[in-house]
Amino acid sequence: MTARLTAVVAGGGIGGLAAAAALGHAGIAVTVVERAARIADVGSGLMLYQNGVAAADAIDARLGERIRAAGHVVGPDDVRLLMDSAGTVLAREAVGEVGVRLGLPQVPVLRATLQNVLFQEAVDAGAEVRLGTALRGYAQDGGRPSAHLSDGSILESDVLVAADGLNSVVRAAMLGDGPPRYLGYTSVRGRVVGSPLHPQAFVINGQGVQIFVAPADGDTLYWTAKITAPPGEWPAMGQEGALAALLERIAGWHEPVADMIRSASPADLAVTDIHDRDPVPCWVDGRVALLGDAAHPMAPAMGQGANTALEDAYVLARSLRSYDDPGEALIAYQTQRVERTAAIVLHSRRQGAVDQGASRTEAASRDDAMRSSGRKDAATLEVVDWRPDKDVPCSKPVASSGT
Ligand SMILES: Cc1cc2nc3c(=O)[nH]c(=O)nc-3n(C[C@H](O)[C@H](O)[C@H](O)COP(=O)(O)OP(=O)(O)OC[C@H]3O[C@@H](n4cnc5c(N)ncnc54)[C@H](O)[C@@H]3O)c2cc1C
Repeated sequence: MTARLTAVVAGGGIGGLAAAAALGHAGIAVTVVERAARIADVGSGLMLYQNGVAAADAIDARLGERIRAAGHVVGPDDVRLLMDSAGTVLAREAVGEVGVRLGLPQVPVLRATLQNVLFQEAVDAGAEVRLGTALRGYAQDGGRPSAHLSDGSILESDVLVAADGLNSVVRAAMLGDGPPRYLGYTSVRGRVVGSPLHPQAFVINGQGVQIFVAPADGDTLYWTAKITAPPGEWPAMGQEGALAALLERIAGWHEPVADMIRSASPADLAVTDIHDRDPVPCWVDGRVALLGDAAHPMAPAMGQGANTALEDAYVLARSLRSYDDPGEALIAYQTQRVERTAAIVLHSRRQGAVDQGASRTEAASRDDAMRSSGRKDAATLEVVDWRPDKDVPCSKPVASSGT
């Protein structure tokens, strides 16, 4: 009888827990180590697009069902309003119709809710999750990786999956490519329950500020404000300071939106600067592989970071099922993921700069583009049309290397 394959997953965020669920369903014995002592119930939400939903369905049909039940399933007639800061509608984006055309819905969901669903799925698939345990580093003598943990223990396994996010310690050891790159804007994210604007999704655009709003489960709306700013300034304000500064920045904007932001609880807010990294062709060292933001951190402009992490998780598990040699399986995973995610990273970087409308001219041309295209970002359509059985790289990789 062949021994059961073992995997350690570093990081219990969206990518790490999705990987744990996918690997568990593939019959692999998984241990997840997550630095945080618990899954925090703060912050806002994120948009699962058709590609993320398809990846979840492919990991396991029950996971797809759980995600739909936990989020807001966008209906066929739903539209997203694209507005200027005065509340004038620039376009009505037919987000529901896209779902009908692609045969899968968008599902906006609260981030902590999604993480809890993935946690449950991972545990149900047999994974052990050790909270409050950080990975300090790894070694790879004689082929099998060993994970060095904050409690002093060392965990050996057949593969080590690094899903430890933007500032991955595994990436630093593997690639040594320095800190991520600040993209010139920060984010303040929150949620409100019972807003009169619920369940309308919308994007409201000003100069140097864009606010994205979507319904989550129940009568919750989540919002993300992206603000052009020097690095570090907004996170240093703390939650209350950032809320006050945001309200000041949008003074005079469409009043219902300002009211919605005002009613957010500061304790729920997440304030983080936005970074990405230049794409790299290599995420694998022997039997160690990067996944999610550790591999391809990207601007949130296309809402693809978590969606592509779900894709990674499915493809990784499929590769490990298909190859006898885990090292070959990791190379196959890398080959299938690098080109597609590189194109999305670069497009997201460019789109993020467009979204900010940092000068008066740039803001006007962004608004004109939305008015004429009827969409926030036309390229998203091709990206969200990924499916597990036709997972080839984007047909039109984006060649640009920056904003
Ligand atoms: C403003 C904003 C809006 C976004 N909106 C969307 C959206 O709508 N749709 C979308 O798809 N994506 C969105 N994203 C991107 C998405 O949040 C990320 O891409 C996604 O969370 C990446 O998941 P991850 O698991 O790779 O990393 P993370 O979610 O960062 O998880 C990493 C985990 O690893 C843990 N960790 C870190 N270091 C260690 C260590 N040494 N040992 C053990 N554990 C460790 C951390 O505690 C964390 O739990 C958005 C991002 C931002 C900033």
